[in-house]
Amino acid sequence: MIIAERKGLDRIIEMLDGRRSILVAGCRSCVSVCQAGGEREVVALAEALRLHAASKGMDRSIDTVTIERQCEKEWVMEIAPLIEGKDAILSMACGVGAQIMQQAFTDVQVFPGLNTEGMGAPEVQGVYEERCGGCGDCVLHLTGGICPVARCSKSLLNGPCGGSQDGRCEIDPEKPCAWDMIYRSLVRLGRPDLLEINIPPKDWSHSHHGGPRRVVRKRAVLSEEEVA
Ligand code: SF4
Ligand code: SF4
Repeated sequence: MIIAERKGLDRIIEMLDGRRSILVAGCRSCVSVCQAGGEREVVALAEALRLHAASKGMDRSIDTVTIERQCEKEWVMEIAPLIEGKDAILSMACGVGAQIMQQAFTDVQVFPGLNTEGMGAPEVQGVYEERCGGCGDCVLHLTGGICPVARCSKSLLNGPCGGSQDGRCEIDPEKPCAWDMIYRSLVRLGRPDLLEINIPPKDWSHSHHGGPRRVVRKRAVLSEEEVA
């Protein structure tokens, strides 16, 4: 899932300066799971913005809505009637959702209420950790199911770097060394031999370095060549 964090209230208030009719729009998907932009967070933020407006004597109306998925325009278009008369949309979705909102409602400025951090998973309740850097050329089968791109501080494809101590990362001892975890995982899997493989430099053109990526799903089944 995509992990995001809400911007500070001061920053949000600053962004919305001068706007009189605001729609705070949440998303029920990833940002709801990571407790950044779901219905509960939307209601709480809207209330904080109303209190701020009241304390400053501002004439400002704030409505709320939470969409199933802001990253799909079909869901986004369903709230079109709520946009009528608004001069700002505060998107509480990830950066993708905020862009789809702006694409759908070109006449009203969309403001990002969240900072999108990356792709990850809940580790324990309330703690979310990055797990994938979206490199476009996955090597998890060579690294014991642990991503060297997202989880090694230096994104080393052939680690460790030599700086880890007691299984901790030299960049941040609070974090485990990814290559220590990779080694342990491969031993558990009975595949320590995979450590002998020198993973070649990645073709980063499959990542963002090749420009914005596009996936075209031609067929859901394997082609005859792939089966052969
Ligand atoms: S190797 Fe690439 S695609 Fe696979 S988990 Fe890591 S960043 Fe994601
Ligand atoms: S100590 Fe481990 S996780 Fe940290 S940079 Fe070195 S190899 Fe990567």
